[in-house]
Amino acid sequence: MDIVRTGTKRLKDYREIIPLIEYEKIAKLGEELKGLKVLHINATAFGGGVAEILHTLVPLMNDVGLSAEWRVIAGSQEFFELTKRMHNALQGKEDDLSENDINLFRSITKKNSDIDFGEYDVVVIHDPQPVALPEFVDKKNAKLVWRCHIDTSTPNKKFISFIDSFMKHYDAGIFTLKRYAGQLSVERLYEIPPSIDPLSDKNRELGEEEFKRAIAKLKIDPDKPVITQVSRFDPWKDPKGVVDTYRRLKKDYPDLQLLLIGSMATDDPEGWEVYEDLLRYVGMDYDIKVLTNLNGIGNIEVNAAQRISEVVLQKSLREGFALTVSEALWKNTPVIGGNVGGIPLQIVHGENGYLVNSVGEAIEYTGTLLKDPALRERMGNKGKEIVREKFLITRHLKDYLVLFRDLVR
Ligand code: UDP
Repeated sequence: MDIVRTGTKRLKDYREIIPLIEYEKIAKLGEELKGLKVLHINATAFGGGVAEILHTLVPLMNDVGLSAEWRVIAGSQEFFELTKRMHNALQGKEDDLSENDINLFRSITKKNSDIDFGEYDVVVIHDPQPVALPEFVDKKNAKLVWRCHIDTSTPNKKFISFIDSFMKHYDAGIFTLKRYAGQLSVERLYEIPPSIDPLSDKNRELGEEEFKRAIAKLKIDPDKPVITQVSRFDPWKDPKGVVDTYRRLKKDYPDLQLLLIGSMATDDPEGWEVYEDLLRYVGMDYDIKVLTNLNGIGNIEVNAAQRISEVVLQKSLREGFALTVSEALWKNTPVIGGNVGGIPLQIVHGENGYLVNSVGEAIEYTGTLLKDPALRERMGNKGKEIVREKFLITRHLKDYLVLFRDLVR
C-alpha cells in the first residue's frame, strides 16, 4: 500500500485564527498522546473531500506529537467502478451486488493487505473502498476505526448489509452525523463533522497579483456578476439544476456568468460521463465556463472563484457534508445549498445563505442575493463566523484526539 507524502503543518500557525482556549486544549491533548502511532487509509490522495482533509489532518497530528501516516489502497478501474456504485447504493440508489462484485472487492482488498496493523496504535479506515481490510490483515493490538463520509442512513439494503458484515472488526465508527450510521452495528459511535483548513491554498487569503492571475485563468469578466458551483462531476451534485437556475436568472441579469468547476478524482470513473453530458447540456453559452483540474484549475483558482462569486451554489440532491459550502462561507460568500445531508449543518436558512429543495427555490433565493449587495455582505460575514466556530481543521483535530484518547486508555 503506497504511502502519501504530505507537506508540513504547524499548530502554532493557527494560533491567531482560533480562540486561545481551543488552541491550548489541542496542545494538551497532543502532549497526552505523544508518540501515538496512527495510520489513515483511504482510496485516493487527490480529488474529493477525504483527500483534502487528510492533507492537513495528518501533518497536524504529527506536529502536535503523534506519529501519523497516510496510505492509499491500489485498485483497478473495475474496482473503482464497483466502489462508486457502492457509494451511490449506500446513498440509496437501486442496484444489485453480485457474487462477481463481492469476489472483485475481496480480491483487491487482499492485494492491499501488505501492511502490519500491529505497528500502529490506531488505524483509521476511510469510506467503503478499504473497509474489508481487517478481513485480511490481523488487527493485533491496534484499535480500528471506520470513518464513513457518506450519508448511509437510507441505504440500499444489500449493500449496507455487506458493509455491516465488516463492522465486527472495528472498535469505533465515525460519521458526520450520528443518524448516518442508520442500522450499522457500530461498537462506539462518534459524530465528527469534517472541516476545512483556513491556511491551505484553497482557503487562505490571496495576494492581489495572485488573485488576478487566478481570475484570468477562470476566463470570467471580474466586473460582471458570477455564480459558481465547485464539485466533482456527479449527478448527486445536480450540476444541471445549477445550469437551469442560471438560465432563468440570466433573463433578469443578462451579464450573469456561471462557473462550474469540477475535478476528476482517480477513484471516480463516472466523472467523465457526467462531464461530457454536462457540456452537451450547457451548449453554446459562452458565459458558462465548465472548468476542471485538467485545464489548470487548482486550489488557488478554486479559492479565487469562491471569493469573486456573488453567490456560491451547492445544489446537491444527496450529500455527505459538502466541504465546498464551508470553503465558500469562510470567504464571506453566501451559499445556496441543497437541503440535504451535512449542508443544513453549515447553512442556517436566511442567516448565511439559503437551503433549497428545488430549482425553483434555487432561482428565487439566488435572485434575492443577486439583487442585494448589503444582504450578501451581512450573510457572508455570518458565514465566516459559523465556520470559524464549527468547521475548521483545528476543531476536527481536537475531536480525533479525544477519540484516540478514549480508545487507547
Ligand atoms: N474540489 C476541487 N476542485 C474541483 C472540485 C472539487 O478542488 O474542481 C474540491 C472542493 O474544493 C472540496 C472537495 O474537492 O474541497 C470536495 O469535497 P466535498 O465534501 O464538497 O464533496 P465530495 O467530493 O467529497 O463529495
